[in-house]
Amino acid sequence: MTRAVRRTGVRATAVGVAVVATGFLVPASASGGWDYAERGPETWRDHYPTCEGAAQSPVDIRRGSAVDADGTPVEGVTLDYARSSEVTVRHTGHTVQVDVPAGAGTLDVGGTAYELRQLHFHTPSEHRLSGVAQPVELHLVHAAPDGSLAVVGLLYRERAADAALHPVLSDLPGSPQDDARRVTLALDRVVPDDLDVYSYAGSLTTPPCSETVTWFVAKDVRPLSSGQVSGLEELFDGPEFPRGNARPVQPLGGRPVHATELETD
Ligand SMILES: [Zn+2]
Repeated sequence: MTRAVRRTGVRATAVGVAVVATGFLVPASASGGWDYAERGPETWRDHYPTCEGAAQSPVDIRRGSAVDADGTPVEGVTLDYARSSEVTVRHTGHTVQVDVPAGAGTLDVGGTAYELRQLHFHTPSEHRLSGVAQPVELHLVHAAPDGSLAVVGLLYRERAADAALHPVLSDLPGSPQDDARRVTLALDRVVPDDLDVYSYAGSLTTPPCSETVTWFVAKDVRPLSSGQVSGLEELFDGPEFPRGNARPVQPLGGRPVHATELETD
């Protein structure tokens, strides 16, 4: 985002902001112009120049290389999610997205309040931990008043069922044509208390790839049942999704990765 603005000047600023808003906050299918097949990740830069920026996501996080939280800029990160929220689950064409009502959750990063907007899934995972991908990754997307984003990424492997996600995963919308589901979700149980995370500065993993995201990727891989995993995998399989709905890892470059903790309020 900032790179594109720098390159093309003031006129592009307004356009760029509009693209960010539509690409992120309305159904992804409405943004058009990209997918995970013929118009897949290797082609995104043709229409979205920021996708070849120097601070892109996802990345491969080498476990040994993260700096401790002490003395790093990432301190005082607090998560406060509601016990019960009426949410909407829909298939956007690119992901299954859970839209949450205003006030459902806040992520406070050093005094800046990021409001939880939506959750969505990727399969396989987009981030890797020491080279290892997992079957599923959940992104919890939070936005600050200035438009900057903070995203919590949780990776999942096949093991036991996640009860907190059951209301969403037990009745997935199969296509963008399916009606959205209204379900009750205990958001405070989706993310475990006092979560150890890796934090780094990155981007949206879908066009327009805006480099406005502070990432918090959980150190520990969480469990889902085989049915919960396969339910997601089946949605993002076939000719439209030859490699699922995950962008390949991008170069980390010189970006530092900090180890820190999301404290629960
Ligand atoms: Zn995502």
